[in-house]
Amino acid sequence: MIFRQLFDPASSTYTYLLGDSGEALLIDPVYEQVPRDLALLQELGLSLQATLDTHVHADHVTGAWRLHQRCGSRIALAEAAGATPVDVPLRHGDSVDFGSRHLTVRATPGHTNGCLTYVLDDESMAFTGDSLLIRGCGRIDFQQGNPRQLFTSVRSQILTLPDTCLLYPAHDYRGITVTSVAEERRFNPRLGGEVDVGDFIGHMNNLNLPHPKLMAIAVPANLRCGQPEGDGVAPDTPDWAPLTLRFSGVWEIEPMALLEHAAKAQIVDVREAPEFIDRLGHVPGARLVPLSQLTNRLNELDRERPVVAVCRSGVRSAQACVLLNKAGFGQVANLAGGMLRWKIEGLPVAAENI
Ligand code: FE
Repeated sequence: MIFRQLFDPASSTYTYLLGDSGEALLIDPVYEQVPRDLALLQELGLSLQATLDTHVHADHVTGAWRLHQRCGSRIALAEAAGATPVDVPLRHGDSVDFGSRHLTVRATPGHTNGCLTYVLDDESMAFTGDSLLIRGCGRIDFQQGNPRQLFTSVRSQILTLPDTCLLYPAHDYRGITVTSVAEERRFNPRLGGEVDVGDFIGHMNNLNLPHPKLMAIAVPANLRCGQPEGDGVAPDTPDWAPLTLRFSGVWEIEPMALLEHAAKAQIVDVREAPEFIDRLGHVPGARLVPLSQLTNRLNELDRERPVVAVCRSGVRSAQACVLLNKAGFGQVANLAGGMLRWKIEGLPVAAENI
């Protein structure tokens, strides 16, 4: 089984990718991170079957609808959450398959009335959303929160899993990534040890926290499963040429696509001068700016036009793309496979010096 824990730094949200036999699920995807998630799915050769939100979040917008648009994944969420459009309304005891594995759904209301915990088939891991955080739990002061219900949910549905079961929350604000049932049963200051329901309710009713910054935007957007208002077109892929986003964050252009769209772009070859005219030659019209000089020669480039970086194999040019993005260039792509691929594909080469 493939398992990846992904992080959104803006909201401190963890997104989880589970894959088996070419099929994947994403738990709690984040709207802004959809290009990253699609790149990872593509690189790992996984087809996304469904997205599962643990609840209607108040601090970020879900990527569920956007992923559904891009790859047809089904949107799964608690029926009790009342969101639309949900393809798979989930109830306690349901299961969601991926490859030969599955997740079992446990209702763990209390933080919201639609909170779910997803438990892997062999009970080796569980995804608790905000019902149980590492040494903490989600708040109960909005979205139908109820401390008595949350106490019962965590004690009866999560802390009853095997001691060794690893627990993965929807957030951690200190960067801690995982805990276990045994650990939380013993050390969770709100819900573990000798704490009883009265202690818990007293504690939770006196947190006096400010509301999350994004709440007024995130909750209504998540009740639409992350579908933007209006015509709902997500600003996604650059449109000047067909590009692929790599998981590294760099956009790539295939050699044939560059040949077709070369007139629109500035082609920047970032190899050293002798390589520019060696046996591989260079892309016709390319300008030589060695990577070591790029930072000092940015003013030679037009920021309004797309830039395609080229090198021998695509490694140095990927670094050039990162550098150009950091310098504020908005439309930057890397030639996939560099001059090696360009030459193998038999595309035209120039060898004259400039
Ligand atoms: Fe939450």
